[in-house]
Amino acid sequence: MFIIRLIILLAIVAVLLWLLKRLFSPEPEPEKLESARPENMRQCKYCGVHVPESSILLVKDEPYCCQEHADLDQH
Ligand SMILES: [Zn+2]
Repeated sequence: MFIIRLIILLAIVAVLLWLLKRLFSPEPEPEKLESARPENMRQCKYCGVHVPESSILLVKDEPYCCQEHADLDQH
């Protein structure tokens, strides 16, 4: 009866492996993918630092990281 025990053992190992695979690679949720999308980055015209488009400062259609750099570049 050794072969039957071996088959049962293999079946248990297969199920455990399948469960582990499910645990460590869950289906990606579409909502998470949406929020994880990187924001569009703009480069400060004065110092070259990359700033997210939502916090960029636009002066005369030129992107700046802060008011100081906008002022410095205007003069
Ligand atoms: Zn800057």
